[in-house]
Amino acid sequence: MWEYAPAPESRDIANLKPNYRMFVDGKFVEGTGEPLKTINPATEEVLAEVSTASASDVDNAVKAARRAYDRVWSKMPGSERAKYIYRIARQIQERARELAVLESLDNGKPIKESRDVDVPTAAAHFFYHAGWADKLSYAGYGPDPKPLGVAGQVIPWNFPLLMAAWKIAPALACGNTVVLKPAETTPLTALVLADIIQQCDLPPGVVNIIPGAGDVGATLVEHPDVNKVAFTGSTDVGKIIQRQLAGTNKKLTLELGGKAANIVFDDAPLDQAVEGIVNGIFFNQGHVCCAGSRLLVQESVADELLEKLQTRIQTLRVGDPLDKNTDVGAINSGEQLAKIKELTESGEAEGAQRWTSSCPLPDKGFFFAPTVFSNVSQAMRIAREEIFGPVLSVLTFRTPDEAVAKANNTPYGLSAGVWTEKGSRILWMAQRMRAGVVWSNTFNRFDPAAPFGGYQESGFGREGGRTGLEAYLDV
Ligand code: NAD
Repeated sequence: MWEYAPAPESRDIANLKPNYRMFVDGKFVEGTGEPLKTINPATEEVLAEVSTASASDVDNAVKAARRAYDRVWSKMPGSERAKYIYRIARQIQERARELAVLESLDNGKPIKESRDVDVPTAAAHFFYHAGWADKLSYAGYGPDPKPLGVAGQVIPWNFPLLMAAWKIAPALACGNTVVLKPAETTPLTALVLADIIQQCDLPPGVVNIIPGAGDVGATLVEHPDVNKVAFTGSTDVGKIIQRQLAGTNKKLTLELGGKAANIVFDDAPLDQAVEGIVNGIFFNQGHVCCAGSRLLVQESVADELLEKLQTRIQTLRVGDPLDKNTDVGAINSGEQLAKIKELTESGEAEGAQRWTSSCPLPDKGFFFAPTVFSNVSQAMRIAREEIFGPVLSVLTFRTPDEAVAKANNTPYGLSAGVWTEKGSRILWMAQRMRAGVVWSNTFNRFDPAAPFGGYQESGFGREGGRTGLEAYLDV
């Protein structure tokens, strides 16, 4: 098992270890790939060294998953699988503090978010899917529901633990085994999850976790013995994977990027809408696929709303992710920070009006002050491209038809929000918008029972709910 490092001074992070190994066939083993250093984005210091998988390690992990599938997991009654999955859920709760601190250190997100959102939602995902494991055969999938086999899963860095839970829980519930590759900048909580899985005595090989960069992901998804590929990440990589899998019989689900419209009508309770807009774009530094990055506001209330919004944003505290008072933490990497800067500069160059919160930023680390662009036109890059940072682009509309047209004027289609007191208008809008999720008078609400996923370039397939399970079954 791991060696425990002494806790760094003035920080109670007793469970942080200097070295993390990959998890294959029920054991922590040294990978034969080039080790990677994961950085704390709030300090730019090395947090830990993590061993990575080579092509032969990927092969070993897939073989272990295949053995576990053939010999144990696919044959085990659902009621038995459920017991293991419940155990994982409870262990996540037991180790919530460790997981939350580690997530904030590795990703840069505020501790109040990792503590109150990421970790509990990850546990909820395992609880929910444990509940399904013994009910599949009575739910219309035949007396003996058929899993797909070995699932190769690749996840991004914005919700490292939660994305691992979204991927692993339904796969296990349906009787599949898993090889999961976390993102290269945030591998740590997935490896703690591996430790939890080991502590829960899951049969060796049922879950394998292999850190590495994109090449490890590519090797995994094209491995001939992987039956199902589940990918969450950028639209560009999603398209590469689609091409890579063309001509194979692998089942594929893609959860990709977004450019969500958060639409405010003049009858909406504006103070409530302001909270939803702030949550929609500044939650997790805007590193959210379904972030409400385009605010569409009805012209008659645009000035009033913008003023209220700026006053509210001015109160957001940007800084140390481990400080419980922090609202906006660190940008996950220097690369992502550079991308955000480049896109915001394009917004100014294209003539949008930039407003930036004057909150102080720490001297070290990757930080970006909350930013709002007004006078944005649909043709500008900041209205079209996913910025994946704390940057809001504000556009206006006059009629519901115009709001729908502008909301749909994107190649993406993951989510949207509608703020109005008219129930009939919410339904009218939801029916016309090409978005997998439409929230009304709220934003960024998730529930494991609610299918989540996109239209168009936001990908295909759903995660969560009964529809999400079907992505792991031969129905
Ligand atoms: P990314 O596509 O660069 O990387 C995602 C993962 O894919 C990483 O683990 C990476 O190592 C791996 N990867 C890279 N190249 C690969 C290849 N050729 N084959 C296989 N795997 C490869 O995305 P990112 O920057 O980590 O994440 C941000 C993106 O993820 C954003 O576009 C965001 O919208 C999207 N995202 C979508 C959802 C959703 O549910 N729709 C959720 C979270 C994030």
